[in-house]
Amino acid sequence: MPTPHVLILGGTTEARRLAAALAERADVRVTTSLAGRVTRPGAVDGEVRVGGFGGAQGLAAWLAEQRVSSVVDATHPFAAGITANAAEAAALTGVPLVVLRRPGWRPGPGDRWHPVDSLDAAARELPRLGRRAFLTTGRLGLAAFAHLTDTHLLVRSVEPPEPPLPPRLEVILARGPFTVADETALLREHRIDVLVTKDSGGDATAAKLTAARARGLPVVVVRRPALPEGIHAVPDVPQVLERLGFRPG
Ligand code: NAP
Repeated sequence: MPTPHVLILGGTTEARRLAAALAERADVRVTTSLAGRVTRPGAVDGEVRVGGFGGAQGLAAWLAEQRVSSVVDATHPFAAGITANAAEAAALTGVPLVVLRRPGWRPGPGDRWHPVDSLDAAARELPRLGRRAFLTTGRLGLAAFAHLTDTHLLVRSVEPPEPPLPPRLEVILARGPFTVADETALLREHRIDVLVTKDSGGDATAAKLTAARARGLPVVVVRRPALPEGIHAVPDVPQVLERLGFRPG
């Protein structure tokens, strides 16, 4: 029987952990696919390919050429385009698909969350909640805030943002994880009065929510896009391994 070949659609910590778990097994070939948005991505175990496939058809062709036996979509919860393509390519080729999604965050006592459905809706909500906002929604979505002339925007991203940019913008280049102490100091030093975040979930970037709660700040939380119809995600790497039929270790 040929060695099973697992394609991981990556770009997340969970994708890297899954690649590490599969790469240490002799009975499987693992390839991680990265979009190529970040110039210096962290190390990934196993084989790596970089760049788009050319839509669902292109991905389907790649699955057939490379004799992929299973696809794991371990992309970010807001990467809806590649997730839709993965579902379509799986349907076209019959290659089984497992979707890994870390659970979303839940508000706790003391949180002042304002859930919205998009970055545009977040930008509409912002002026009535504060004048100095900390935006942690990523450098690629800044165009949605470009018309806000009266709101000071502090943006943190791994790579510098590109135009169109909001007029009153301050950029901090940094890569998580961040501690509650880091986030509290940042909110205080920059006199932030409102936080904007996507519901990315996970521990690596949750400290800002704890810090905002402690300071009594409102938080605009962008909800996740829905998964394609009929797709049910699993929340962690052990459950992916189980779905793929690999025993742990
Ligand atoms: P997206 O809008 O869903 O995807 C746009 C296009 O980028 C896809 O159609 C595909 O091009 C290509 N692509 C995306 N992920 C790919 C992958 N893992 N391997 C190969 N091609 C990929 O994606 P996005 O929101 O721009 O995110 C891009 C990557 O960054 C994802 O891998 C995601 O895990 C990671 N990321 C995203 C966010 C976020 O907030 N969106 C945050 C952190 C990390 P083709 O159609 O040509 O195949």
